[in-house]
Amino acid sequence: MLSEVIHLVLSLLVGLVIGQISGDFFRSITFALISGFFLDLDHLVDYIIIKRGKSFSFKEFSSGRYFKLVGKIRLFAHGYEYIVLFLLLALLFPANSVVFYALAASLFFHLAFDIIHNKCKFSAYSLFYRLVNHFDIRVFGCKHN
Ligand SMILES: [Zn+2]
Repeated sequence: MLSEVIHLVLSLLVGLVIGQISGDFFRSITFALISGFFLDLDHLVDYIIIKRGKSFSFKEFSSGRYFKLVGKIRLFAHGYEYIVLFLLLALLFPANSVVFYALAASLFFHLAFDIIHNKCKFSAYSLFYRLVNHFDIRVFGCKHN
């Protein structure tokens, strides 16, 4: 739970800084929260896949132990690739660049915190790396695994 509070604070800080630079606080904070705080909703996707939609237990979900049971961590929204994509989109759509800069920066801080907090390998947060390794939990190399 503390890690989610830190994600929230980091996201708000990113949103405020980009809001200060751009003058668009509403969009910068909103999209910083989406990629920095609500990003962890992709854990729910993993849980639903593992449980096949049956018997949801918040206690089990919040524990994260279900990852070890199946030996896979997908986390489709966690990936450096999205940062690159958002930066490209910021260049392609300058009128909406504040949205993409907020998404990119907040995601960067989310992933940086996850790597430090979970003591994972840097490569573990590449979606492509996890995909070619079939989302095998062992490629994360995290202390929590
Ligand atoms: Zn995360």
